[in-house]
Amino acid sequence: PLPTAPAAARLCSGAGGEAAAAGGAGAMLRHLARKLRASGPVTVAEYMREALTNPGQGYYTRRGGVGESGDFITSPEISQVFGELIGIWYISEWMAMGKPSTFQLVELGPGRGTLTEDILRVFKQLSSVLSKCDVSVHLVEVSPKLSEIQAVMLTGGKVQPSPEDESAYMKGISKTGIPIFWYRDIQDVPPGYSFYLAHEFFDALPIHKFQRTEKGWREVLVDIDPEVPDQLRFVLSPSRTPATQNFIQPEETRDHVEVCPEAGVIVQRLASRIEKDGGAALVADYGHDGTKTDTFRGFRNHKLHDVLSAPGTADLTADVDFSYLRKMAQGKTATLGPIKQREFLKNMGIDLRLQVLLQNSGDTATREQLLHSYDMLMNPEKMGDCFNFFALLPHHRLVHPDKKDKRESKSPLPPVAGFHELLLK
Ligand code: SAH
Repeated sequence: PLPTAPAAARLCSGAGGEAAAAGGAGAMLRHLARKLRASGPVTVAEYMREALTNPGQGYYTRRGGVGESGDFITSPEISQVFGELIGIWYISEWMAMGKPSTFQLVELGPGRGTLTEDILRVFKQLSSVLSKCDVSVHLVEVSPKLSEIQAVMLTGGKVQPSPEDESAYMKGISKTGIPIFWYRDIQDVPPGYSFYLAHEFFDALPIHKFQRTEKGWREVLVDIDPEVPDQLRFVLSPSRTPATQNFIQPEETRDHVEVCPEAGVIVQRLASRIEKDGGAALVADYGHDGTKTDTFRGFRNHKLHDVLSAPGTADLTADVDFSYLRKMAQGKTATLGPIKQREFLKNMGIDLRLQVLLQNSGDTATREQLLHSYDMLMNPEKMGDCFNFFALLPHHRLVHPDKKDKRESKSPLPPVAGFHELLLK
């Protein structure tokens, strides 16, 4: 059982305050320790926000750790096929929605930019299909370090900072000739028909953690350990916090619950935008449907890492609760999924794509690499089962809007690729 924080402690402190002193793995810890000593324990959400995106010392701000040489590897970094199939998903939805004359591809948390790069290659290969469509790319990225890496990957480094009064902080032209804009917040992305993408983005957003106790629900907080200098520990709030009141459902049966209100706010925004301007959102992440309990964990050098040790030097993450995302779409859009990654990719035709690549590759090393990356993405013991795909779509994409004359013949709506079995005609 976790110790209880002293009753007098202030539970939530303000956002940020001074950034940690520059340099060294201990700078973030010293910054947090000062803050905890001054104003008492903070919520896990506040701790996670500081550790990941503090403007001076946050993990994503400084390191960004995605990729083989980083702390964790993601599907687009494993195989180009992953991004290609997602590119095909967008084109398929664009066609199903009547080929609008313009669309924005909006990616949240693009990492190294590999996924966008693979999608843009598909758009280029299918340029005859997209020829009359005006496409632009909009990247939402808080990390200056990662936005630089994305700029090199996508434009060859040919970018310019935007004037202060513009909503984008940087802009450039992709190697395939498509305009690209960078923003810090989804709210800065201009309105318009948009396809949204969030791959391993929601799992990086701050969560609150709650524990059921004999006295009712308590929030898990992060505090300084009084026994060991500069060591952090979890404690329980002495009483209910605003978050326990707002986020725990009366019918909850679990003893430990994680909630990510920031994910809820972003999904509400996506749903409103899709309802108003049209488009679709594809979310891919590891997660569950409202069933799991304690999933908060850290990664450093591809190994599990204690979430409370050396903050700012490791990736912190928690499983995405898709049932919460569905609830937050609040009927503004329809939702599909979550569906397991291996089912989604199979439905998108990954087996056919693999066959073509294998036939076209001359050397054994490339063939082995192709088979190895296929196994990483699809094997239920690897990424095939724990990663899920989830989509937000306008209601009319799934159900014909009610017409007064019910006898009017309606052509069936095309199935949404990936979420239904692939039918080859
Ligand atoms: N989608 C990429 C990277 C995943 S890592 C991939 O699959 O490879 C998470 C990404 O989200 C990073 O680019 C990180 O900098 C960004 N990020 C984290 N918190 C963010 C926030 N609050 N707003 C915008 N981007 C954020």
